[in-house]
Amino acid sequence: MRAGRLVAMRLKLTLVIALLGALFVAAPASAETITGTFRFQDRSTATSPPTWTTPRPIASAKVEVWSCAPVAGFCPLWGRDATTTTDPAGSFSLSLAFRGAGIVYAVRVYATNAAAVVWPKVLLSTEPYWQEPGQPDGTPIRNTVKAPGDVLDFSYDFVDFWSSAHFNIADTLLVGRTYADANRDPAESDTLGPVTVQPTSAWPGTDFYNPTNNTITVVASDMFEDFTLLHEYAHFLQNEISTFAAIPSLHDGCFARMIGTGTPINSEEHAWMEGFADYFSGVVRTSNPGRFEGTAGRGTPSNAVLENPVGTIAADPVCAGVTTSFAWTFSAFATPQLIGGGQVNMVSNLVYQLGFASFNFPFAASLSVAGLVLTFAVLALLRAAARPLERIGPN
Ligand SMILES: [Zn+2]
Repeated sequence: MRAGRLVAMRLKLTLVIALLGALFVAAPASAETITGTFRFQDRSTATSPPTWTTPRPIASAKVEVWSCAPVAGFCPLWGRDATTTTDPAGSFSLSLAFRGAGIVYAVRVYATNAAAVVWPKVLLSTEPYWQEPGQPDGTPIRNTVKAPGDVLDFSYDFVDFWSSAHFNIADTLLVGRTYADANRDPAESDTLGPVTVQPTSAWPGTDFYNPTNNTITVVASDMFEDFTLLHEYAHFLQNEISTFAAIPSLHDGCFARMIGTGTPINSEEHAWMEGFADYFSGVVRTSNPGRFEGTAGRGTPSNAVLENPVGTIAADPVCAGVTTSFAWTFSAFATPQLIGGGQVNMVSNLVYQLGFASFNFPFAASLSVAGLVLTFAVLALLRAAARPLERIGPN
């Protein structure tokens, strides 16, 4: 072999290697960027009629990127390329390898985050709620790749009622979860998964949490009622972190009543179940000023009511009556303590001590009956003594 041909071969080889190298170096740059910032429109039900308020970021929400290779201008088949999450500002950015000009991209924004998976408000749905940017008001935003390095922007504000309503539920519960995470006992090890939320127009009752299928049912008219959404989320927290006593009731801060019959069913379990949910809704609202909107007192007490239980009792005549008679009965214990000055042991003090200190209920009861018999005897004696005076008559 001649030296000249060898040199030529080496040159060709070097050229091929250099070309290959250039291809590898160029590869990372030949990618398109799929990006977008999404917001929903919040709504205040505190005004009548309700009013649209601030646009809020669809924060930490699930986003899917889909694409298709069109045939004669139509997309015969869509495939999912990636699943990602928006940041707290509602933005995402994703790099996908360039597969040629003409690939069409679409994006789905879900009402799903670490706190909640919100399902569509329809009778039969097969998958959690999502919406394409551009919809449902107009045509969905679809972007076509023209060259490697293209940036395809899908930014959109969802301002229609139903999209915003679904996104509001997910976002409200996310703020609730963030508060719970920040304030939990660090020694606690229960993990908080997302709760399923099913908005519905088919349920005639009120919002409720069902621990059996881990679902919060939200009536359609409450999808912007942030206060009650937080209240229901607290019931989910009770079930996840502790034990949830599921006691369906209608409750007003004084009486818990059985749904249907109206029979009062107040109990310690019920007080804790609802008391914690009322508190949680109140404290998350207070620690996130300006974030939440809703009708005061709907589904959970307003902070004013929570902080003024005496006023709440006074506002309800039946509640006030029951509380007053309880106070009177209770004073039967308090009065002898005061009269005896804490030094002289009176009969009622003895009854109290037997009952509550020694748990000798039979003796305490006998002593109470003896006291009652003695009282009647004294009254009978007084009556006998007063009889001669009765004959004289009034003068
Ligand atoms: Zn409740």
